[in-house]
Amino acid sequence: MAHDERGVTPQSEDFSAWYNELVIKAQLVDRGPAKGTMVIRPYGYALWELLQADLDARIKATGHQNAYFPMLIPESYLNREAEHVEGFSPELAVVTHAGGKQLEEPLVVRPTSETVIGEMMAKWISSHRDLPLLLNQWANVVRWELRPRMFLRTTEFLWQEGHTAHADEADAMAETMLALRMYRDVAYEVAAIPVVPGEKTPGERFAGAVKTFTIEGMMRDGRALQAGTSHYMGTNFARAFEITYTSADGKAELCHTTSWGMSTRMIGGVIMTHGDDKGLVLPPRLAPYQVVIVPIGRGERGEAATRAAKDLAARLRDAGLRVHVDDRSQLSPGFRFNDWEMRGVPIRLELGPRDLEAGTVVMARRLGEGKESISLEGAPGILPGVLEEFQAFLLKRATEFRDSRTATVDSWGEFVEAVATGWARAFHCGRPFCEDDIKAETAATPRCVPLEAEEESGRCVRCGMPSEYGKRVIFGRAY
Ligand SMILES: [Zn+2]
Repeated sequence: MAHDERGVTPQSEDFSAWYNELVIKAQLVDRGPAKGTMVIRPYGYALWELLQADLDARIKATGHQNAYFPMLIPESYLNREAEHVEGFSPELAVVTHAGGKQLEEPLVVRPTSETVIGEMMAKWISSHRDLPLLLNQWANVVRWELRPRMFLRTTEFLWQEGHTAHADEADAMAETMLALRMYRDVAYEVAAIPVVPGEKTPGERFAGAVKTFTIEGMMRDGRALQAGTSHYMGTNFARAFEITYTSADGKAELCHTTSWGMSTRMIGGVIMTHGDDKGLVLPPRLAPYQVVIVPIGRGERGEAATRAAKDLAARLRDAGLRVHVDDRSQLSPGFRFNDWEMRGVPIRLELGPRDLEAGTVVMARRLGEGKESISLEGAPGILPGVLEEFQAFLLKRATEFRDSRTATVDSWGEFVEAVATGWARAFHCGRPFCEDDIKAETAATPRCVPLEAEEESGRCVRCGMPSEYGKRVIFGRAY
């Protein structure tokens, strides 16, 4: 193998092995004891908390309130919405025994919470004055995974689920799009992932939804990752759970509902959008440590370097940065450098006796060539700007990568070639069996009908029938 035991299989050699080894070696996660479960270690959880804090602030700023609903849901609730139960049945974990005996009615461990929240909405809404009802829940959900993958598909995962009820379609659709824009902004501004927002084709819709919207990111192996979804449910759940209100003129009306979710899967997206052969590359806004300081030297001179490193760390924290001092003096500087490189820290500062005498510190960026000396005194003034540049660079690099791997195609031959390494923008007839046929031939699926694409029409790239969506559809192989 081309790597030593400290490192990981290079991404360029085997993307999947790189990912699987990296999430463990970077101490983001460990395997849980039950198949398909994941332990999120402190370094991985800190990443999630930073994403969560940002998204939570946006959710609240747009008028939503957090609440919490039970994890155990009566099985009969799921059966009330036919498409919903059909879609989720294969993934359900069901509790049949509790308290030492068989339960009269089995309880489902929530795979999502439309049903239990719908039941409560029916209770809480009576008048048009109660609308809109804008709720969000941070929770764990369980969907049984036969082929689990850390962060991307685990039997239990963490997410937020927004659930809202509205008087009419226009208001509910405005909400659906607001949530989608929020996800798009988080992806761009925080995760530095240039996602494409768009609508899912009918075959890819959420079980029970009238319309499903998504943000799709391109990973460094050219595959697509669905990183957040927003659904307009029409009156499907309102009918099933009797979520009704009395209108201003006294008539009983069904509510229009929405739901939307973003999960720990987004962390997988960050890893696969920015990582390289050496390991993680974390966007500064999500990095648990934006700066790591490695003091160097032995004996008294080493101790002086460590004291200076701690002093610098305190001044950088005062400047608002997340900083760690790696004073594991039993490990060589080289080992510590490689370790933090693998764990994706944006800036490393090396502080040895000679630097200390000169009043400088050596700065190495996680990406980019060479090292440079900066003033110890001036570091708190310099580093925030360096981190901002790094954040912007990651988004730019990922955008260029995505664009270089996206092809506009009109023939089947071009299509097959494009989806082998990235995305194809192509016309499609919209017929489900034609989608299935494309998937069977190439493993590619329609990722979305991009909202921002220009209106145009043509012939289906597979079967030649007239195109359905008035736009080109993005196809790709997906996680
Ligand atoms: Zn077709």
